[in-house]
Amino acid sequence: MQVLQVAAEIYPLVKTGGLGDVIGALPPALARRGLDVRLLLPGYPAILAAFEPARTVIALGPAFGAATLSVQVGVLRGIDVPAYVIDAPALYAREGHPYLGPDGRDWADNALRFGALGWIAAHLGCGDIDRAWQPQIVHVHDWHAALACAYLALNPAAPCRSVFTIHNLAFQGLFAADLLPALQLPARLLTYDGIEFFGHGSAMKAGIQYASRITTVSPTYAREIRTHEFGCGLEDALEHRAAHLRGILNGVDDAVWNPARDAHIDHHYDAARLSGKTAAKAALQKEFGLRSAPNAPIIGVISRMTQQKGMDLLLNAAPDLIADGALFALLGSGDSTIENGWRALANAHPASVAARFGYDEPLAHRIIAGADLIAVPSRFEPCGLTQLYGLRYGTLPLVRRVGGLADTVVDADEHTLAADTATGFVFDAATADALRTTARRALALFRERTQWQKVQRRAMAQGFSWEEAARQYDDLYRELTAIGIPSG
Ligand code: ADP
Repeated sequence: MQVLQVAAEIYPLVKTGGLGDVIGALPPALARRGLDVRLLLPGYPAILAAFEPARTVIALGPAFGAATLSVQVGVLRGIDVPAYVIDAPALYAREGHPYLGPDGRDWADNALRFGALGWIAAHLGCGDIDRAWQPQIVHVHDWHAALACAYLALNPAAPCRSVFTIHNLAFQGLFAADLLPALQLPARLLTYDGIEFFGHGSAMKAGIQYASRITTVSPTYAREIRTHEFGCGLEDALEHRAAHLRGILNGVDDAVWNPARDAHIDHHYDAARLSGKTAAKAALQKEFGLRSAPNAPIIGVISRMTQQKGMDLLLNAAPDLIADGALFALLGSGDSTIENGWRALANAHPASVAARFGYDEPLAHRIIAGADLIAVPSRFEPCGLTQLYGLRYGTLPLVRRVGGLADTVVDADEHTLAADTATGFVFDAATADALRTTARRALALFRERTQWQKVQRRAMAQGFSWEEAARQYDDLYRELTAIGIPSG
């Protein structure tokens, strides 16, 4: 089966969060199952620098605000799946963040930049861009690629089906209604039953309305987004498509996140030999200038500094936890008010709190390996990868019971400890109080070394593999193409 994967990020070339990790791992996992998978990506400088084109499949323009757009197929060094790359300098020849300009704001032409991505995806799906390869499934990720579903819906004879995966419903790709002609979309789509959202066009809504199937990245988030609390105004549209919406959990890329052979850490370990983790912790304390007390628990944080991630809640709870003896090792970037709050806390408690602001992949690995706990106190969380990495590294997640966090972490209470199913610490209310109370439970268990290590080993034994996720996507594609799933 031919499957085209369409996205705006791919680890390790361009990554702003979990989406990049997914696109770096899911397509190769599908290819290992025998599917004929190709990628379609925007030609940002980092992508073009790694690209070895074999053939130009089409040259277009002017369109989407670009004088020229060409699509080439070839290989991306370090990535095992063939790729189509869109070379359109006017749209993508911009260094740095894929969505934001140097002023930290969305590029003004983002609708056109990613409209082009969706349009080319749809035409690859229709077979009129590359006659040598045609997908049966066009699988688009997040709003950046979602307009593909609208373009495909405009062609009733399209020989492919579409899958739309929502990695975060909060980012919707809204655009001014007067952009429709430049996006090559007819005005009749701008209705409540189409892509209209409070007078704007919405790429996210195009995916929801027109995809053959919708997925999101955890079963709980798939239910939550059909409610007013989590639906970001799209809950009715999602409810309407409930029969065609399902949750498939993300996995952990074992080649990148494995404490036994992580390229970014000096001290390796596994569940049977946790001594490497003790060494990784000492190294982290030294690197961050934290108090070098082996008995002081380190709470790690690797996160966008936003309200979504509950970073304000953690900041409020932190002073009491510091008084209880906890240390914090934080890496993140985002909201300047939240960043400044953490800066002030680190200045007030330099031996207990170390905060680094920016994006640093190797440092993220060193924190996951060296910390005792990883805090992910999100207000909403589609899947969350950080807690999955924490589990794999025996760095116990401290999470809110929401979305993918609820699906992947088992709270350590007296029953789960007795049954040896506990893998972390889970709280319910989105308040600093609830977070503080549960963090204190974690700190108390940390003092019981035998129990703690038992939970660490249980956490490290969790599956969450891309093989399992790929199996579920493969099933979905087969349902859609009605090929049937081979027995055995
Ligand atoms: P989201 O995509 O909502 O930000 P996820 O938990 O799904 O959250 O994925 C976050 C990914 O980004 C993880 O791989 C995490 O390690 C990484 N990450 C987040 N912030 C940073 C940072 N400041 N530096 C390095 N990696 C980061």
